[in-house]
Amino acid sequence: MIIKPKIRGFICTTAHPEGCAESVRRQIAAVQARKPVTGAKKVLVIGASTGYGLASRIAAAFGMGADTIGLFFERPATDDRTATAGWYNTAAFEKAAREAGLVAESLNGDAFSQAIKEEAVRLIREKLGKVDMVVYSVAAPRRTDPVTGEVYGSVLKPIGQSFSNKSVNVQNGVVNEVTMEPASDEEIRQTIKVMGGEDWILWMQLLAQEGLVADNVITLAYSYIGPEVTHAIYKEGTIGRAKEDLEVAARQITAELAPYGGRAYVSVNKALVTQASSAIPVVPLYISLLYKQMKAQGTHEGCIEQMARMMERIYGAGGEVVTDAEGRIRMDDWEMDEGIQAEVNKAWSAITTETLPELGDLEGYRQDFLQLFGFGFDNVDYEADVNPNVQL
Ligand code: NAD
Repeated sequence: MIIKPKIRGFICTTAHPEGCAESVRRQIAAVQARKPVTGAKKVLVIGASTGYGLASRIAAAFGMGADTIGLFFERPATDDRTATAGWYNTAAFEKAAREAGLVAESLNGDAFSQAIKEEAVRLIREKLGKVDMVVYSVAAPRRTDPVTGEVYGSVLKPIGQSFSNKSVNVQNGVVNEVTMEPASDEEIRQTIKVMGGEDWILWMQLLAQEGLVADNVITLAYSYIGPEVTHAIYKEGTIGRAKEDLEVAARQITAELAPYGGRAYVSVNKALVTQASSAIPVVPLYISLLYKQMKAQGTHEGCIEQMARMMERIYGAGGEVVTDAEGRIRMDDWEMDEGIQAEVNKAWSAITTETLPELGDLEGYRQDFLQLFGFGFDNVDYEADVNPNVQL
């Protein structure tokens, strides 16, 4: 099969196995170019196949020599469809990790379900013994309640009042004004159920109850705060409410892990192009302005550099994890740098379809977007016939 990108709105419905393998190779190389970290050795990553979760898994395996179990929700290839990118990423990761002598096991299924949690328990007991790090990096549109069976949907909406701001159509580069209507109380409640901390708590309680957490275990979930221009749609919107819930969950989990000396942290990460973030209005335009400034300053990072630096921060300072006053790890420190934000702000007020090529890095955004699906790598032959049927 000759595989080309098929972009529909903010997703690409095809993925390239060789390109995804190249993406994973590059992420491994980025980690191996840094100093090794003495840290976690047995790691469970929930949401491990793309974006920040995949980068966490690679940073753990290739930066700390950790055995990993990765859990995700992906689709294998069928007769007429490629597999999803996360499927191909995982196949490439598993192969490289095993060649490096590491345990690398994967589970494909719904992290919110009781059945997959029980499978994970069995697999951890058999392959890892106990876990000393658990990364919770799920970004999902819906969740079925494991007890009541109710299906919750998450929405990306402002709260209280409608919100208008600039946004870009990434495909044609047109900047226009978008208006989003405020969420109902019910939509807020459901978004918290999907993207808040409830499922993270359930995972950690189960692992503790099953005797699978090692002493001094660290568990992480990821959040975003960002600048003023994105607040109405992010920090102060429905997703922000869910992220507040995640912080409450972190405190509860830390209290419950006290017998093991365990700690739960929310790490606030940088805005980056991932399948999840490309669905948020306003954010892609902000990201393209941010990329322009951070690349010019030499401080731009991708998911892998963020996660490698996070592991260094967690394990590098002799057990003292540096956090902000609310106990969060701030990997968005370089993004939120005053100088960077002042420039982004200036650009934001001047941004139009005409000024975007000069003030923003839409090309960088587009390239990252294509690469999420394994396209746009200069050393991959996209005219070659490839077998989409990759086994895990
Ligand atoms: P992503 O879309 O790349 O990854 C989502 C992961 O969740 C994938 O591995 C996917 O398979 C998995 N997943 C989805 N539904 C699942 C389910 N039901 N069961 C099991 N796995 C499931 O997204 P991402 O951007 O890496 O997001 C990960 C976390 O990082 C989220 O909490 C997000 O809010 C946070 N974050 C993202 C950004 C950003 O700019 N992308 C910034 C800060 C924080």
